Amino acid sequence: MASLNNVTDTEVVHPLPAWVRWQARPFPDANLLALIGSTPVLIDSGFVGHATQTREWAHAQTGGAVQWVVNTHWHADHVGGNAELQAVGAGVAAAVHDAEAVARRDPGCCVAEYLDQPVRPYTVDRALADGEVLPLGEADWQVIAAPGHTPGHLCLWQPEERLLVVGDALSDYDVGWTNAALDGPDAAATALASLDRLIGLDPRVLLTAHGPIPVDTPAALAGARRRAQRLVDDPDGAVWYGIRRVFAYALMIRGGVPLDSLTEYLLARAWLTDAAALLRRDPAGLAEELVTGMRTAGAVVETDGRLRAAAPHTEVPPAALQQPWPRDWPPAAPASTAGSDDEDGAHR
Ligand SMILES: [Zn+2]
Repeated sequence: MASLNNVTDTEVVHPLPAWVRWQARPFPDANLLALIGSTPVLIDSGFVGHATQTREWAHAQTGGAVQWVVNTHWHADHVGGNAELQAVGAGVAAAVHDAEAVARRDPGCCVAEYLDQPVRPYTVDRALADGEVLPLGEADWQVIAAPGHTPGHLCLWQPEERLLVVGDALSDYDVGWTNAALDGPDAAATALASLDRLIGLDPRVLLTAHGPIPVDTPAALAGARRRAQRLVDDPDGAVWYGIRRVFAYALMIRGGVPLDSLTEYLLARAWLTDAAALLRRDPAGLAEELVTGMRTAGAVVETDGRLRAAAPHTEVPPAALQQPWPRDWPPAAPASTAGSDDEDGAHR
């Protein structure tokens, strides 16, 4: 990946305040972002398979204490370290939508089971609503609801420095995929409206969750808007875009899928059968075309009898995938850990 060079370029073009610590991280993890200062915070916590590394990085940045983990949304690559940080005293803050579903152990939590992306059970200590102002690190940040990629997706806006934490709303090279099957036919239009709101903030720096920090902020926003418009204009294309992402992620966290069980794996996935219905296709035909198309595009490769993702990614220890689905998570105790009795931090 060229990200090291890009980060260097970015640091020259967009110097970050000393209280913002950002580090690119390959899939299957979201990038690392810590806000240090009187309220030390980690934004998103990576995939469960690398939770220890996430905690160690966060503690190295913050001098050993993370008061809050703030989640931009509940996908597995953003919440996988929540439990590990909660175990050492951090509180978890997330969008109201996600907080309520996590509290009732809704089977749809984190879209974990649906996407076949394991998440270690966690609780949410603080629900975040649009427009709230939170002291994070050394500055006040505004919560910006940015639904589309998921219904609860939020961004964080620091108006003085004009820093925008974008989560998966966009990156330097793409825009968040949307799920019309789960979130309805308007999901892509919702994402586009959110993007327009973000553009309206006129951010200086986009703190992205994947890939480098864009060197050219307006160009990154304009590119994302074009891509988001395309997903609105081409609903079938949006379905394809989503399932390619979901399948590539499945291959990354599993070290590939054995070729002789590939069809079986795909046909057992709700995301595949839902996509087939949206595309008016039979699931077996769609599974075959998905694999063939990704092979042709060079997005997947075959080695040692397994189909693997071609994009750079970090290996995951298989044992880390042994997590209960949210329907089997232990009941969430009433918020009583970490920040709940602490009125100094983001908990207000
Ligand atoms: Zn996501």
